[in-house]
Amino acid sequence: MEKVALLKCTEYEVDVLEKKLREGFELLGGDDYLRKLIPEGSKVLLKPNMLSVEQAGSPVVTHYAVFEAVIRIVREYSKDITFGDSPGFGDSRKAAEKSGLMEVAKRYDVKFDPFTDTVHVKLDDSILCKSWDVARAPYEADVVITLPKLKTHAMAYFTGAVKNQFGCISGTQKAGWHTRMPDARNFCKMLLDLNTLVGTNFAILDGVTAMQGNGPKNGEPYKMDTIIMGECMSAVDSVAVRLIGYDDPLKTPTLKEVYDNKWGAVLPDEIEVVGESMESMKAKNFKLARHGEGFHFTSPVVSKFLSGMLAPSPVLTKDDKCIGCRRCEEVCPEQGKVITMVKINGKLKPSWDMKNCIRCFCCQELCPVGAIETKSTTLGKLLGMSGR
Ligand code: SF4
Ligand code: SF4
Repeated sequence: MEKVALLKCTEYEVDVLEKKLREGFELLGGDDYLRKLIPEGSKVLLKPNMLSVEQAGSPVVTHYAVFEAVIRIVREYSKDITFGDSPGFGDSRKAAEKSGLMEVAKRYDVKFDPFTDTVHVKLDDSILCKSWDVARAPYEADVVITLPKLKTHAMAYFTGAVKNQFGCISGTQKAGWHTRMPDARNFCKMLLDLNTLVGTNFAILDGVTAMQGNGPKNGEPYKMDTIIMGECMSAVDSVAVRLIGYDDPLKTPTLKEVYDNKWGAVLPDEIEVVGESMESMKAKNFKLARHGEGFHFTSPVVSKFLSGMLAPSPVLTKDDKCIGCRRCEEVCPEQGKVITMVKINGKLKPSWDMKNCIRCFCCQELCPVGAIETKSTTLGKLLGMSGR
């Protein structure tokens, strides 16, 4: 049975957050638990979510006050702390500075690593992926504590503890993984292997302000007042998805792969929730990014054919927010095959050739102004394979 601490925290005030996190660790086993988690002299790596260069306090990134509260506790066990991430787009250092994380880190003598130095390694007992280039800092750390943000996600439905570690892949190499794993099911298996590879030890999920709707970058903030902590990434995510409205965690692609591959705890009877009750913390009217079953066929040809008829697609939102910046074109892993920029009424806009689209939704994820959303096909809607 995996233990997960579920805490209610209504504000981003560092003293309040520190108190809450201490309560969480107390529920999990207190000082002895922390000593085991962070052995004396260990190299600790904190991995916040820095998806892109965002203002401090933005619901896109882990809040700097959560980060500070974590540091205050961790440094009682180790003084050797580094933090870092590789954003989906943009410079890691700028993302750390703008989000307020760098300023906090400097005050506590926490080092920064941009995750640009990579190491080539093998994972022998993988589910799917044996050969890797990953950021050296998380791979070589003794203890990896992931600090995800609770958000919706167009491809994975939800991003939390498991998905946050995708940032351990450096920069543009992320696009390569999307191309190699066009099937969402394989992509999720890859995420599990990546977590095994970097050996993520603990997760503290920032859901004080979560993101609903068109996440993980352009959704709306949702005041959820929630922090979820635990050693098992999938158990933390299972609690989170059930709180936002997926009563069955197996309806989310990553947790379905966790369950099918016996990677970790997912089902409610495998997880002991301590602290607040699930019932009292359930989010009301939370706007999901997607729901319904995914679709997977052994034949890639059949799968590609049916994708066109069933899967949601990236489309421009109706309110004409597009500023013609070309970022969608730039981040698309299927370079030159799907997105071309065309002039409409004198303005540059993306146009999609959907037959080559692998539905990774990187364009939707990284559009700086939220001009792209996911749209369901009529047949997909009828069959319950819905986008928003
Ligand atoms: S859709 Fe978004 S990313 Fe693409 S050109 Fe327009 S503003 Fe830029
Ligand atoms: S168009 Fe968008 S969803 Fe399709 S492959 Fe490119 S980035 Fe992925």
